[in-house]
Amino acid sequence: MKITVTAKLKLRPTPEQKTALDAVTLAYRDAVNFTSGIAFTENKLSAGMRLQKVVYEDLREKFGLPSQMACNAPRQVAASYKALWTKCKDHHARQQWIQSVKPGYQPRPFQGFERPAKFISRTLTYNFGRDYSWKKDQQVSVQTLEGRQVMAYDGWNKHLELIRSGCEVGGAKLSYQKSKKQYFLLVSLEIDLPDPQPADHKNVVGVDVGQRFHAVVTDTRNRTTFFSGQQTNHKKEGFARVRQSLQRKGTRSATRRLIAFSGRERRFIADRNHSLASQILKTYPQAVIGLEDLKDIRTRTEGRSNPQASLKAKRARRRRSQWSFAELQTFLAYKASLAGSMAIGVDAQYTSQQCVKCGHTSKGNRPQAGLIFVCEVCGYQVHSDLLGARNVTLRALAVRQDWTATGALSVRPDVSSVEAKAERLQRYSELRWSSDTSPSLE
Ligand SMILES: [Zn+2]
Repeated sequence: MKITVTAKLKLRPTPEQKTALDAVTLAYRDAVNFTSGIAFTENKLSAGMRLQKVVYEDLREKFGLPSQMACNAPRQVAASYKALWTKCKDHHARQQWIQSVKPGYQPRPFQGFERPAKFISRTLTYNFGRDYSWKKDQQVSVQTLEGRQVMAYDGWNKHLELIRSGCEVGGAKLSYQKSKKQYFLLVSLEIDLPDPQPADHKNVVGVDVGQRFHAVVTDTRNRTTFFSGQQTNHKKEGFARVRQSLQRKGTRSATRRLIAFSGRERRFIADRNHSLASQILKTYPQAVIGLEDLKDIRTRTEGRSNPQASLKAKRARRRRSQWSFAELQTFLAYKASLAGSMAIGVDAQYTSQQCVKCGHTSKGNRPQAGLIFVCEVCGYQVHSDLLGARNVTLRALAVRQDWTATGALSVRPDVSSVEAKAERLQRYSELRWSSDTSPSLE
């Protein structure tokens, strides 16, 4: 099983090297925008080689780009224009369709081609071996306008190990993070992992994500961890206040600050999700980790929001939390494969309503939609988020049993067939949790 991961390396340039990086990234950005202007006047040219023929000499002479970069720039611009052409075609097809069902409809023009595509971020692409390569003592050599520069870097231990082990390396992106005044090198690494086997995944874990607790995690041996969301929520409320006041102002400078600000918020959540994923994997090694299919849990996070909040605000809030959950799952899946675990998706329906003792499923099992789950039939009581995690664990256990029995692993529930889903839900309702005897693995 080959997987590609992206290592984010923090570069440690000397002040002179920093100046060289500034020069090359700014020159590259100017070159890309210049190329975009040419592509635009050449009838939105999206053929990389043809565009390269037109601009290559200029990029070398006017912008001083090394040859590899003078090839990369037109290729990047051509790819952008190609994407715009696709969008343009889709747009016209949609307009035509609307016209056909709505006679008299005035089709709207496509706006993507009104002016040349503009490139704002200071990013450039390197090709391994041609314009960047590893050096000893955790150093990397990267191309600049004044030739190669060798500088130190930092990164996540796992990634550093991989690089040391000499794994296959692909292209890299040099990018500048304005808020931290910091250069990063994003390197894609290819890893060859043995195909996962059920025997190597002894434990089965369920993760329930939410607002109150960032995550509640439990396993078949009944070891439960509540990861508090309090600190994050507090910080998030602060973010929400600033965002609101900037949105209300609506001036250009406020919009600019809003963009910078949302970057900070995004990175804060990403940091939280990274550390949360690592903690979960450390606490529950060699596990099949069940995650809920996020499409199903849309409604649950709305529960406790302010009833007076506008529909728009609620939607925005929901989108943000959905996005944060999705990110946590992505990190978990990604890190799990490197750590000898494996993340799988399970249906999320009724995980908060289904009794794990008797299978009774009802909204009434959550009196006042509250914190405590109380089964209407058998009286079983448990924290509602833990109930969610237990249901996910049971469903992941079912997937692992199938894996052992058939040798085939379904990493995601098949949602294309209604019958298959109904069958799964039927099977879920027969799963039982017992506190004294752990559910059997085989
Ligand atoms: Zn019950």
